[in-house]
Amino acid sequence: MEQKDKLINPQKTIELIKEYGFDFKKRYGQNFLIDEHVLNKIVSGAAISRSDTVLEIGPGIGTMTQALCEAAGEVIAVEIDRELIPILERTLSDYDNIRIINEDILKLDLKAFLKKPVKVVANLPYYITTPIIMGLFESEAPIESITVMVQREVADRMRALPGGKDYGALSLAVQYYSEPEIIANVPQNCFIPRPNVGSAVINLVAHKTPPVEVKDREYMFSLIRAAFSQRRKTLSNALKNDSSLGLSREDVTGALKELALSEDIRGERLSLEDFARLSDILGKRK
Ligand code: SAM
Repeated sequence: MEQKDKLINPQKTIELIKEYGFDFKKRYGQNFLIDEHVLNKIVSGAAISRSDTVLEIGPGIGTMTQALCEAAGEVIAVEIDRELIPILERTLSDYDNIRIINEDILKLDLKAFLKKPVKVVANLPYYITTPIIMGLFESEAPIESITVMVQREVADRMRALPGGKDYGALSLAVQYYSEPEIIANVPQNCFIPRPNVGSAVINLVAHKTPPVEVKDREYMFSLIRAAFSQRRKTLSNALKNDSSLGLSREDVTGALKELALSEDIRGERLSLEDFARLSDILGKRK
């Protein structure tokens, strides 16, 4: 399949948008990629071959979709904005390995929808980055990797280690499910319209087995969320204050003692392994 009319060129994007009278919608986080170097980095970072099925979230006018169709066996592109569908049907008309779906990615039942392993590739709408990433991991759909453009600050949070200001519930969740690696920093002028923040491409390669064993994963994540919802409090106060957990201060300090951790420790000092052990101890008292 020959790629005839590449969109990754600011002029082509502007022409097409004018032709269709398309107005960018802020509410859908529409910032279209216009930089070929960045596009190539995303596609090569995702390590796609003809044997792969790719799920693209938010194809926009199809700029990256064209390159994905060139590299993958099959591409499924899910776009919420109905106005973009006729544009995509035209820009992708040279490819017979594309399925365009006009849907909200957050409303799809991914486990039922994705029957075979997929690699997810996207220039994500920034207003829903975290729910999309968490939804993908928690869906238990067969996801091999997620290679996505996100806000630089969010990429930093995803790969942060204990102790730093960026470390939090998102770091722990992403690292429980995957191995994160930033593969490119992307300046604002690589998009139309320019976003207000810097971006980064991050590659999340799904773990085959989680890096820690925990008896009740849901419970561990409810502890993690409670620990970071009150960042400036000690862990024991933060967990005690979350009434849905039903824990006393003594329950928490007792468990911390068993783990040889200080009673006054804050959540940001605990590793994923620490949270797993804490969860196993406190879970017994539920
Ligand atoms: N992939 C294109 C590119 O790189 O030029 C567009 C990226 S733009 C940052 C995000 C895209 O996601 C837009 O096309 C937007 O309409 C779409 N989008 C926003 N929310 C969505 C949702 N909930 N489900 C599916 N697509 C969504």
